[in-house]
Amino acid sequence: MPTQPIQRLNHLLDELGQVTDEPGRLTRTFLSPAMGRANQLVGRWMKEAGLKVRVDSVGNLIGRLEANVGARLVHARGRRQATPLQGMTLLLGSHLDTVRDAGRFDGPLGVLLPIVALAELKRRGVTLPFAVEVLGFSEEEGVRFASAYLGSEGYTGRLSPATLKLRDADGISVGEALKKFNGGRFLLPKQAQRTSNLIGYVEVHIEQGPVLEQRGLAVGVVSAIAGQSRFKLTWTGKAGHAGTTPMALRRDALAAAAEFAVGVEALARRTRGLVATIGVLQVSPGAANVIPGSVTHTLDVRHADDRLRRRALMAIGRLATQIAGRRGVARAWQRTQENGATPCSRALTARLERSVKAVQGKSLSLVSGAGHDGVVMSALTPIAMLFVGCRDGLSHHPDEYTSPKDLGVALDVMVDFLQRLAADYTG
Ligand SMILES: [Zn+2]
Repeated sequence: MPTQPIQRLNHLLDELGQVTDEPGRLTRTFLSPAMGRANQLVGRWMKEAGLKVRVDSVGNLIGRLEANVGARLVHARGRRQATPLQGMTLLLGSHLDTVRDAGRFDGPLGVLLPIVALAELKRRGVTLPFAVEVLGFSEEEGVRFASAYLGSEGYTGRLSPATLKLRDADGISVGEALKKFNGGRFLLPKQAQRTSNLIGYVEVHIEQGPVLEQRGLAVGVVSAIAGQSRFKLTWTGKAGHAGTTPMALRRDALAAAAEFAVGVEALARRTRGLVATIGVLQVSPGAANVIPGSVTHTLDVRHADDRLRRRALMAIGRLATQIAGRRGVARAWQRTQENGATPCSRALTARLERSVKAVQGKSLSLVSGAGHDGVVMSALTPIAMLFVGCRDGLSHHPDEYTSPKDLGVALDVMVDFLQRLAADYTG
């Protein structure tokens, strides 16, 4: 990749990174003033790249580049039969909203990189026989309404009446916010595209993990977005005096929870692809000289294969039963979240992988432990994801960073992917 497009991409990431609702740190949430400014700014860049721009009724920014039918005929070497891609659209995108005090790359990279890649194709005189829509989703992080994917749910016609009732910290509901955004009238959007007209959805996103950096690779392809189960567990033993209760007579809820935590860690370590985390723990009554009487904690379990995740959950359940029985404490479970895994399309991923190998020499297949817009988009069309390495695997943090070198590789992959896809279908 020449340096100019890489510098351009870096510049756009920097400039969009200045668009914030909170002075001094980067925060953009659903339908906020900063999101409006971000749509204007990115919309302008889309227009400069030759895209036709609109904003839909849930605030998604959509830039469309129509197919070049003339080019199709040239590519088809004079054969005038319709190519399989006539009237088809490829979707590229990610989200433009951010977490609070965010970095510049998580989300925006997957919107801005396709814009720069399309501009580069234009500069090279390459046109595509299919249409491309670059999608900047209005909401993915779940910051304002504690519910993620509002943008892609709107785009795919999957926004539910129940979701419209969710309220933000100021008591404003999703439905009210959307009504205001649309000038007083809002109807649940229908699916924006017919499935039969779509080639697929490809999202470029920073890895948000350390694997690519560790392997010395700029990019990798995603095989699946992991399914996840979350629980709240409560262990109930007996509180007592820390000085006068002999060790043999104790029913220490924290010791039980601690044994459980270490047991879950060991299970996850020996189960390929499984990750399990206890991230919040409350000890009661919580005094230095009192044996913990009860402990409540979270448990987050993820795997790319739903069958293996369920099997692990069974083993974790047996472990809890064993520990509770042996220690004479009670335990209670409450499931707080359950999402199945989302496999990426094999065919579309194979095409992406081919470009990764052509540009980088080799490819690496990764599971995404974090959720992405692709989870919702997969209900509409085949999905594929390109991960780009980020320094120290850091994300959701102002120090989030991807080097210009890695950005260049990702740009090369996208340009190569689009060119080969065009060539495949035009013979
Ligand atoms: Zn993201």
